[in-house]
Amino acid sequence: MSTSFRLGKIYGIPFYLHYTWFLILALVVISLSQEYFPALYPGWPSHLHWVTGAVASLLFFASLLAHELSHSLVSLHYGIPVRSITLFIFGGVARISREAGSPKEELLMAAAGPLTSLFLGGLFLGMEYIISSLNEPLAALFSWLMQVNFLLAAFNLIPGFPLDGGRIFRALIWKLTGRYKTATNIAAMLGQLISWMFILGGVFLALFTLNWLSGLWLVFIGFFLLHAVSLSKRHSLLQERLAGITAENVMNRHIVSVPFQLTLGDLIRDYMDVIRAGPLLVVDGERIRGIITASNIRSVPERLWAITPVIAVMTPIARFSAAYPQEDILSLWEKLEASRLKVLPVLHEGRVLGLITREDLRRFLG
Ligand SMILES: [Zn+2]
Repeated sequence: MSTSFRLGKIYGIPFYLHYTWFLILALVVISLSQEYFPALYPGWPSHLHWVTGAVASLLFFASLLAHELSHSLVSLHYGIPVRSITLFIFGGVARISREAGSPKEELLMAAAGPLTSLFLGGLFLGMEYIISSLNEPLAALFSWLMQVNFLLAAFNLIPGFPLDGGRIFRALIWKLTGRYKTATNIAAMLGQLISWMFILGGVFLALFTLNWLSGLWLVFIGFFLLHAVSLSKRHSLLQERLAGITAENVMNRHIVSVPFQLTLGDLIRDYMDVIRAGPLLVVDGERIRGIITASNIRSVPERLWAITPVIAVMTPIARFSAAYPQEDILSLWEKLEASRLKVLPVLHEGRVLGLITREDLRRFLG
């Protein structure tokens, strides 16, 4: 999440803006205020071009948000938690914690976004119709929003997995074959084919019509999509293989606790084999103070081991990102990768049930 900026929460789902989004927002505002609106309405004063451009861009952003949110609300309806929504260049990515449980769920989850965009397009069309004879800037604003929402629906309905259209396609194949894996493979193949069509189409456009910018843009979308296809395919298949494996299955329950006053010298003398095997919990009676690992110990020169207490070198428990017992393995992996500490304590009602290290996860992830 370090490349994104947290915006807030809607329905309990954290929303992020990818930093590239600010660049895109600026480009959209500039191209609307300096090119699109001035070309159509040269008579407007310059500040009106800017205001309309800025409002249009923000409402475009709100339309994207509505699109992503609709996907997420259908997921939540089927009991699939949505971890986050990130908006970036081509729209957004809603990160759900598992794949749909049935073709019907997948179909409705995928279709919700384009349907919302179509609905918004229709809404702005109606508003433009009503306001057209009354207020030109508002009519121009609604007209542009109508077009982008219809475009958004059309782009997302391209049947290249992992676009919404590709997910709808996968749901249909899944329904037909009854096999999720086969459906994912076929949808990914079509996704790759469509990506290459974008790339070749862009190359042809650039070479034969000398329309370099549009050509490059298509090539860029093609490569972006190609990358997204392989990533989504891997993620889908991994998620299916790992379905139902949670922190409880993965964690190491045999936690050894040591008192916080113990010196490193005593720790090494008494717990050498335990430290080699994994992290230890540092406690103060019932209270958990932190976690100590072999690398913590190595950070202290050997001559100081006899006088250094464990508490001085351990990592305080509050600095770890915690896992909960039912957390799925992919989420654990992401948390561990995001955390610099490489140990995840599994917490339940203030107690540490187990510890998870990268080695524990690797046994399952293969
Ligand atoms: Zn979508």
